[in-house]
Amino acid sequence: MANKRDYYEVLGVDKKASADEIKRAYRKMAIKYHPDKNPGDKNAEEKFKEAAEAYSVLSDEKKRQQYDQFGFEGLNGFGGAGGFGGAGGFSMDDIFSMFGDIFGGGSGSFGGFSDIFGGGRSQQRPVSRGADLQMKVRLTLAEIQNGVTKKFKIKKDVQCQHCHGSGAEGGSDATEQCPTCHGTGYVTRTSNSIFGVMQSRGVCPTCHGEGKIIKNKCKECGGTGLVKGEEVIEVKIPAGVMDGMVVTVPGKGNAGRRNGVNGDVLVIISEEPDKELIRNGDDVIYNLLLDFPTAALGGTAEVPVIGGNKVRIKITPGTQSGKALRLRGKGLPHVQSYGVGDEIVNISVYVPETLSNEEKEILEKLRDSKNFKGSDSAKKTIFDKFRSFFNS
Ligand SMILES: [Zn+2]
Ligand SMILES: [Zn+2]
Repeated sequence: MANKRDYYEVLGVDKKASADEIKRAYRKMAIKYHPDKNPGDKNAEEKFKEAAEAYSVLSDEKKRQQYDQFGFEGLNGFGGAGGFGGAGGFSMDDIFSMFGDIFGGGSGSFGGFSDIFGGGRSQQRPVSRGADLQMKVRLTLAEIQNGVTKKFKIKKDVQCQHCHGSGAEGGSDATEQCPTCHGTGYVTRTSNSIFGVMQSRGVCPTCHGEGKIIKNKCKECGGTGLVKGEEVIEVKIPAGVMDGMVVTVPGKGNAGRRNGVNGDVLVIISEEPDKELIRNGDDVIYNLLLDFPTAALGGTAEVPVIGGNKVRIKITPGTQSGKALRLRGKGLPHVQSYGVGDEIVNISVYVPETLSNEEKEILEKLRDSKNFKGSDSAKKTIFDKFRSFFNS
């Protein structure tokens, strides 16, 4: 993975490129490096695959976000989120099955590339794929720290038991040619595109690309091979995930029509805000309000850590407001790699807001004490701290 080029660089677009710009850039690459135009050219084939991989991520809003935030790591960590894991990129078959709509058939948004390339591959009939299902899961910091397995009951399309998904009644799967597409599985449309008036092919709406329809449709499912059902699924969520990340559970989405391919379940991580701790990447921040005598005299203070426990920390005499202490390893693990973040305790020294007469008397006596004036070194520390903060 180390020698992979940045996806934006591959497509030659800016990081802020719109979906449309990305689509246009990919279309240009696909034309230039298409194998039908560059027979036997290995370099062109590599470029073609590289562009397809980049496009598969950048054209998907979720994957793009993940990639922007975490780079290639963000895509690998979630088995299938990138669709090409570490297995050494795309195969040509992957590209043609994933982007079938670009190379023929499908939405036609690319204006019928198959006609430009005369692509033989696009003659393959698409296998019906069930829809992906999305769900949100709320996690506490403790769950994120340890990783967690969650169970969900989901409602979805499942295989019809009456016809075993075939869509045909009574065990007879006799079919007849689809009258709409005459068995090709595709219908041809004429459309205007940047190349002029073009013929593009789309999947036949009657037979969904199968080219044939069932004579005797199943009474339970009406020929789709699908019925409404539910399933309990288990999702293993790795430690260290962040708000907005997506964990993919392959094959647990809606079943495909007539024994097609199952969709996936996409689990979107939502982080429950903690009452006391603030997450900052792998670290968590706790703002400690320290009483003045302990700050001056030294002592200990209790601070909460992830999971609801408290730890006692040592306060050295003369601790100033703005001092930060680091509790090593009390943060969150890096997602899908080694290392653990810290808890950072930011100290603010509390100045009493109301005072009894007795307290006032004590403080009045201290007002003119030289030790209670800020020392030069304390002033310098505060000055340096702010300067480095604003210059960083
Ligand atoms: Zn059925
Ligand atoms: Zn048809």
